[in-house]
Amino acid sequence: MQPFNLSFSNTKAAFKHKNDSELKKSKFTFSIFKFSFLVNYGPGLTTFALKLGLPIKGMIKSTVFGQFCGGETIDECDPVVKTLWKSGVGSILDYSVEGDESEANFDANVEEIKHTIVKAKGKPEYPFCVFKPTGIARYALLEKIGTGVKLDLEEVEEFYRVKKRFDDIGKTAFENDVRLFIDAEESWIQDPVDDIAYELMAKYSTQKALIYNTVQSYRKGSAEYMKKCIEDAKGYFPGFKIVRGAYMEKEGARAIEKGYPNPIQDTKANSDNEYNEALRIAFEHRNTVSICAGTHNEESSLLLAKMMHDHGIENNDPRFWFAQLYGMSDNISFNLAAKGYNVAKYVPYGPIKSVMPYLGRRAKENSSMAGQMGRELALLVQELKRRKAEK
Ligand SMILES: Cc1cc2nc3c(=O)[nH]c(=O)nc-3n(C[C@H](O)[C@H](O)[C@H](O)COP(=O)(O)OP(=O)(O)OC[C@H]3O[C@@H](n4cnc5c(N)ncnc54)[C@H](O)[C@@H]3O)c2cc1C
Repeated sequence: MQPFNLSFSNTKAAFKHKNDSELKKSKFTFSIFKFSFLVNYGPGLTTFALKLGLPIKGMIKSTVFGQFCGGETIDECDPVVKTLWKSGVGSILDYSVEGDESEANFDANVEEIKHTIVKAKGKPEYPFCVFKPTGIARYALLEKIGTGVKLDLEEVEEFYRVKKRFDDIGKTAFENDVRLFIDAEESWIQDPVDDIAYELMAKYSTQKALIYNTVQSYRKGSAEYMKKCIEDAKGYFPGFKIVRGAYMEKEGARAIEKGYPNPIQDTKANSDNEYNEALRIAFEHRNTVSICAGTHNEESSLLLAKMMHDHGIENNDPRFWFAQLYGMSDNISFNLAAKGYNVAKYVPYGPIKSVMPYLGRRAKENSSMAGQMGRELALLVQELKRRKAEK
């Protein structure tokens, strides 16, 4: 057996796809996040400036938007998709528009998601498509169902339309043979989403894992719940995207406000343990289960790769995927791809003003403590230094 020698410290492999000026631009973008004023108020001010018609689009596109998004439309993402694929990294087109809750907008979003699926058909550079449930369903409706409040007749009809939208997307994925992720959001809207996700799996994942639901390991008991879903899966192949979870503060605040126990793990170490436990459980059930480790955590990524190695599983076994967000953790994505693992990036896209909430979250996530350099910035600085020394 070959020794296990995967490492994420090779910045040459991580940034091979960027020339010097692109690297410097990325460094500039991550440097901006040191300024808490810009991180806190930048997205709001930018949205306001765009509304006023101020000519700032070019600047945003060449900095924050360019760092984290593929383009404003599906086709505008083509160059990014091509560049990633040259290094063996796939793209998951993610229509990241948030906010408008009209039925017409939900229907338009379904059409947009279906376009990403049709675009992905038969193309290995698009290994998955994805959507967010709140892009096709009213938040308050999901919350009512998730918290066990009885729906009135109009809402029952509305929920019927929501289920139809989910099915429309699932059916399109099935007909085009494209794997589909269903993102997870806040815990109090998750129950109806989970129920629909497993219904879709039962319908469309009978030949192979096509529909992937999301497991959030920062939720207490999430690994055990995933195990139960695996045991309950009769006649289909369950798929899971395993993540830690993105709504920790909101979850804690609501639990306090409403006076129920916080569903989130008490410590980061507990989230890490739960995540790794979910990977182990899914791995043990690999005769039917497929997974994607959606994480920027090096240890968890190494754990999955090591389990595959120790059990003699090929790096490119289709049951195992890794995924990161575009513009982040290139050291993980590109080093995995260089060793032949299945890896892809979420490539968010949409009109600049509509993706501002997404960009705001990335800025917050990458803003470092005073005097401390963020992880992404440190990697960029390391690679720029390495290139300079090489010249
Ligand atoms: C491809 C991809 C898809 C994603 N899809 C989703 C999705 O559908 N839904 C979703 O919610 N998120 C999603 N995320 C975001 C994800 O949940 C995490 O927020 C993000 O990836 C950071 O976690 P990490 O595993 O990368 O690494 P790390 O940086 O090691 O972990 C950070 C995470 O640990 C947890 N954490 C931090 N501090 C504490 C604490 N004190 N106590 C308990 N837990 C703590 C939080 O979840 C935090 O986000 C996705 C991420 C990726 C890369």
